[in-house]
Amino acid sequence: MTLLSADAVVCDAERVIEDGAVVVAGDRIEAVGDRGDLADAYPDHERVECDVLAPGLVGAHVHSVQSLGRGIADDEELLDWLFDHVLPMEASMGADEMRAAADLAYLELIESGTTTAIDHLSVAHAEEAFDAAADAGVRALMGKVLMDKDSPDGLLEDTDAALAETEDLIQRYDGTDGGRIRYAVTPRFAVSCTEACLRGCRNLADEYGVRIHTHASENRGEIETVEDETGMRNVHWLDEVGLTGEDVVLAHCVWTDETEREVLAETGTHVTHCPSSNMKLASGVAPVRDYLDRGINVALGNDGPPCNNTLDAFTEMRQASLLGKVEELDPTAIPARTVFEMATRNGAAAAGFDDVGKLREGWKADVVGLTTDNARSTPIHDPYSHLAFAAHGDDVTLTVVDGEILYRDGEHVRMDDATIRERAREFAEAY
Ligand SMILES: [Zn+2]
Repeated sequence: MTLLSADAVVCDAERVIEDGAVVVAGDRIEAVGDRGDLADAYPDHERVECDVLAPGLVGAHVHSVQSLGRGIADDEELLDWLFDHVLPMEASMGADEMRAAADLAYLELIESGTTTAIDHLSVAHAEEAFDAAADAGVRALMGKVLMDKDSPDGLLEDTDAALAETEDLIQRYDGTDGGRIRYAVTPRFAVSCTEACLRGCRNLADEYGVRIHTHASENRGEIETVEDETGMRNVHWLDEVGLTGEDVVLAHCVWTDETEREVLAETGTHVTHCPSSNMKLASGVAPVRDYLDRGINVALGNDGPPCNNTLDAFTEMRQASLLGKVEELDPTAIPARTVFEMATRNGAAAAGFDDVGKLREGWKADVVGLTTDNARSTPIHDPYSHLAFAAHGDDVTLTVVDGEILYRDGEHVRMDDATIRERAREFAEAY
């Protein structure tokens, strides 16, 4: 039983409580309100003071397995980046490397304030990341990658084997750790998956009631390839084989035409916008304002460390707002509150967590606390402006998932951070 309090409690995109507090009981929020009132009502609770409290951030598209490749392929063309660096690294990774990469990613997420991740793993050794997420305490929707076509040796797999392993992993991991870990069927993208594979993914998602997460329309070469092979625009092809809907999260969606956007809106498909990745790989600018105007749920993601190069979700809020303003040539296009909502509730909605992403009574106690004891955080006229434009992951002093303190004042509670960094450095020497 804990009483978290702060000068500003940012409950959601609508509500800020000055001198507020959040009462945590078990894995839930029991009360949200005035600091003094709640301190009187819960006099025996452990007290934790922060300057700002907010819902834990949601990284709605990350690649924990690529953590060891941070900085290996900066300033490269996308296809060189992918086929000369990132995929060979993934193909060469054994179980120990996968575990080291996942540990490093979850360490970074937790200490920079991300409490939920949608994690696109690799073809092999997915169980290492599931075990790492369980041990780290992070909330996650994650899945083994399927690649059964036009993929390099070491990643290319037989269609039936890929689907069978996926089914096995769903049975082993979906809904584990009290529902904190959920499975997503995760084909890499249409270019590297056969029609049978994609349709098989839909069948598994329906059979087990799990989500689907894949990349879509990130760059022009990808959509040209899909159109050459299928005669359809990429989102129409995904729709044709069952990869749209309220249980589908598509990363990127940079290159979509009017008719594809109608499909995304009509089917309730979720989109994860990855502005840093899209800029660094010069993929293009996703039409985020247009998606939001159509009622499409847009979340935010950092993508992988080789294309970002951090998992700091605060950076992504800033980039999303600034890029959206430039795209529209309109400084009102993507305001601070909008990116805050994208990085919190919209991400949780994409991941299928119905009671995550707001500080609200009865909801899951996933909370971050920040210090404002630095020049960059002085003064704060508007907490949303601060979180979207000035705050960094370094400002996080408290990370709570399911009511459990995972990180406080620079100290990890569950994770041995020095050992995780050292192991990551050793394994990363191979790349
Ligand atoms: Zn990605």
